[in-house]
Parts: sequence; structure tokens; C-alpha cells
Amino acid sequence: NGKEELITDDDSVKTTSAEVTYNIVFVTSEAAPYSKTGGLGDVCGSLPIALAERGHRVMVVSPRYLNGGPADKKFAGAIDLDCRIKVSCSGGVQEVAFFHEYRAGVDWVFVDHPSYHRPGNPYGDAYGAFGDNQFRFTLLCHAACEAPLVLPLGGFTYGEKCLFLANDWHAGLVPVLLAAKYRPYGVYKDARSLVVIHNLAHQGVEPASTYSNFGLPPEWYGALGWVFPTWARTHALDTGEAVNILKGALVTADRILTVSEGYSWEITTPEGGNGLNELLTSRKIVVNGITNGIDLMEWNPSCDVHIPSHYSLEDLSGKIECKIALQKELGLPVRPDCPLIGFIGRLDYQKGIDIILSGTPELLQDDVQFVMLGSGEKQYEDWMRATEATFKDKFRGWVGFNVPISHRITAGCDILLMPSRFEPCGLNQLYAMRYGTVPVVHATGGLGDTVKTFNPFADEGRGEGTGWAFKPLTRESMLDALRIAIDTYRLHKSSWRGLMKRGMERDSSWNNAAVKYEQVFKWAFIDPP
Ligand code: ADP
Repeated sequence: NGKEELITDDDSVKTTSAEVTYNIVFVTSEAAPYSKTGGLGDVCGSLPIALAERGHRVMVVSPRYLNGGPADKKFAGAIDLDCRIKVSCSGGVQEVAFFHEYRAGVDWVFVDHPSYHRPGNPYGDAYGAFGDNQFRFTLLCHAACEAPLVLPLGGFTYGEKCLFLANDWHAGLVPVLLAAKYRPYGVYKDARSLVVIHNLAHQGVEPASTYSNFGLPPEWYGALGWVFPTWARTHALDTGEAVNILKGALVTADRILTVSEGYSWEITTPEGGNGLNELLTSRKIVVNGITNGIDLMEWNPSCDVHIPSHYSLEDLSGKIECKIALQKELGLPVRPDCPLIGFIGRLDYQKGIDIILSGTPELLQDDVQFVMLGSGEKQYEDWMRATEATFKDKFRGWVGFNVPISHRITAGCDILLMPSRFEPCGLNQLYAMRYGTVPVVHATGGLGDTVKTFNPFADEGRGEGTGWAFKPLTRESMLDALRIAIDTYRLHKSSWRGLMKRGMERDSSWNNAAVKYEQVFKWAFIDPP
């Protein structure tokens, strides 16, 4: 396909330090544990640490969100660096401050501005997305470009020869600013930029008239200029003209990365490209996919602080205790032998909630229990509450975002269901496998890459596979896969133990992925497009 192949030989990833080290600047709208609404937060909270452990100098720049709630204390360790800069954008001059915490070998830098201090999550509140998100993340990008030049972290600035990792549309202006604001004046000539696509569904699209808010020279309009297809226009006078921040990133970044190999191909197809497939195809020589790793300390059944009983591959007895405790916590009948199915995720069309909704009444005819944890679209939240009222002994719908509960569901369930319509990588299936919980997923993007369907006959009858990856995405094929999983759980105990074992043994470490990132960094420096 014209793309260079990434290192895949596992023997090559045993190294613990990098041959060549870089000054790396992550720019992201969320980074766990400081802020998290999904996988982006997990990745930007753990990949930087893995890269720092390999010898790189790593800074993560994200907003200092304060919403007046208990989460604010997460920023308590970050001190004001007493460095103020002025940013020209949105027809005015804004002053931003920088806060800093050095933790786990990484410089966590938080951009401070009043627009990040409000109730809600990083993107919105109960009334929907914040209307000024374009402004808030424009500010983040300008500040992030200044950070390596002005912040003497540990006594020294990162300087101009650094590598920016711009994550999703919120950070998408970074490569555009390098090209349009800095390089024409001789600054950042030796810097490189990578745009990392965690989800192509969100691109930062606003009316064309907002271009002047970016603080970019007028002649760079073409980089962000975008035209909506006719069907998406709202009235006859609408010409469809818009600005698209992610598009700007894709045309100006040195390299493009996605969070799994499968997704790196899907985004070049009309079905998966969300209007950007032709652009991505034209740049496919610089597109790569690297499957996310996970934080093995946070997600570790042998020492997880959120679960009631610990266990490991050698001694699985704690898992059944986690199941019993979960059934008690949820108010479900305590039945260690009853298959317990879980779902964790955003209640969004992307996650295939409509398929779950249509299949659940039939699934619950069987002797199973099902727990869902999620928040998002109100119609799905209402459906979860109503289903819980109808199937009191079998179904629990936990509406909300709750990290400790997500750990307890991951540990206590037997099966984790993920019928995502598309999934750039997906982390819950990786967590599930590490906890001996068997994933049943739609074979798309990173789910298809990471979950291998059980085959009892392979490997001289010992069996192979870590779960079930079904296709196509229909209610019937989801129910079929679940039925086979449930039967295997009930009737073929040794096959089930094999599935759990192979899942728990899977190497989902970041070190593995970090080596591949380094390969891409190298290409960015030696082989600019
Ligand atoms: P996405 O980024 O598309 O939301 P991922 O599977 O990549 O999906 O990552 C989702 C992350 O968010 C996981 O860490 C998952 O456990 C967490 N998560 C999602 N919904 C919830 C919730 N309601 N409560 C707690 N954690 C959640």
C-alpha cells in the first residue's frame, strides 16, 4: 500500500531505552489523571510516561480545567510558573499562564485561562458543548507552541528542535501554526510535527467566517478551508463553506498517526474517512497506525486499588470474589455461575448502543446478567433506566462517569461487550483481557486488530483466540457471538480458562508501542514529506 512497515518483530521491543532521544511535546485536550472523558485522556496520561522511561524528554501541554468540584484537587500539585504570555486571537489579546508538575519523569504543563474554569467536563456541560470551544482550543495551541521556547523546565527550555504530537482536532492548529506563524520567521525550522488521530468523527468544523479567530495569516485560509457536502447544508443560501481544524493539521503535519493499524486503513475509505478519506489517501505514504498500549500499573488485577479482591493468572480465585462483590454492589442476585456481561463506554451512536438496545430483550430471555456503565445521549440513558425497571433481576444501567466502578465491572464480569460501529483503537477490550474478562466485539478498527476470535481446534486442539470479533454489525450477529460465548462459559470450562489465560498474557504494554512511535519519530526527522 506504499506505506513503510513498522517494526513488528517482538524481539526488537525488549530494549528499555531509545537509541535516539527527542524533546517531545504532547498537545492534548485531556490527560489522565488530571482530565479524562475517554481514551484520549488515557493515552495522553500514559504514553508520555512510557516515552520518558525510554529516555526522551517529554512535556504534555493541556488546559488547567477547574470546574469547582472535587476533581480540581487533581491539579493541586501543579505550581504557577509565573510566566505569562500574550496570545493574539479572536480579535483580541489574551493572557495565559502556565502551571507545571514534574511527575513520573514527565513535565505536565497546564495552560491557565478563565475559559477553562467552569462547571462541566472539558468540552461541555448538561446543556451541550461549550459554544467557545474553537476559541478555547485555539488558545491551547498558541500556548503550546510557545511553551518549549519560554518555559525553563528544570532550568532549561525544550528549545526549537522538538517534536510536537498534536492529538485530535483540539491540538490540530499546532502544525498549522508551526508552518504559518513560526517557520516563515526562522523559528522551529528544525521542529517536526505529528498529528495523532484518536477519532476522526470530530474535526473542529466551524463557519468559514471564524477563520479570523485563529490568529493565522489570511493566505493560509486554504489549509483549513472546507466545503460541506450539499446534503449537510441547512438552507438555500448556505454555501457550505467552513473551516476544518483537523484538515489543517493533516495537510501541514510531517506525519499522521492513528491508534491502530486497522483504523489507519479505514480512514482512507469513504465509509470511514468522514469526508477526509481522499486527503488521507493522498498522504498515505506518511500515515501509520500504532495500537495503543495501556497503563499496566493502573489496570492491574493483582494490585488494582478499586477492586475488592486481587488476582492473577496463577491464582484466579479473587476474580470470582470480584464478581460476587459486584453483584452485591449492583443489587443483582448473587449467583457466581450466572454469566455476567458488561458494557462500559460513552452512550453514543459510535458505540453501537442502538444495537445493544435492540438485542437486549432477547439476550435477557436467557439466564444471564447484564450491567451497563455509561453516560451520553439522553435517549439511551432513559432506556437504561427503563430496562433496569423491567428486568430487575437481570439488568443494571449505571448512568454516569465513574472510574472506580469501571474497574470493578472490568474485574467482576465474565464477558465485556463492545459492538462499536467504528473504533479507532478501543481500550476497554484491552483492560478486559488483562482482567481475564472475555471481550465480544464488532470486528472493526482496533477491536478487530486486538481481539482474536476463539478457535477451539487451533494449536493442536489447545485452542487459540482471546474472545469473539463478530461481523457484520447487526443485532443477529451480536446475539450469535454472545450465545457462543455464553455456551462456552457454561459448558466448556477449560476452553474458557484458555481464553482468559491468553487474554491475560497478551502484551498490551506501552513499551511495545513506544518503540514503534520512535520509528515514526525517526522518519519525521530524516524523511520530511
Ligand atoms: P473512547 O475514547 O471512544 O470513549 P476508548 O475505549 O478508547 O473509547 O476509551 C474509553 C475510556 O473511558 C476507557 O478508559 C473507559 O474505561 C472510560 N470510560 C468510558 N465511559 C466511562 C464511564 N461511564 N465511567 C468510567 N469510565 C468510562
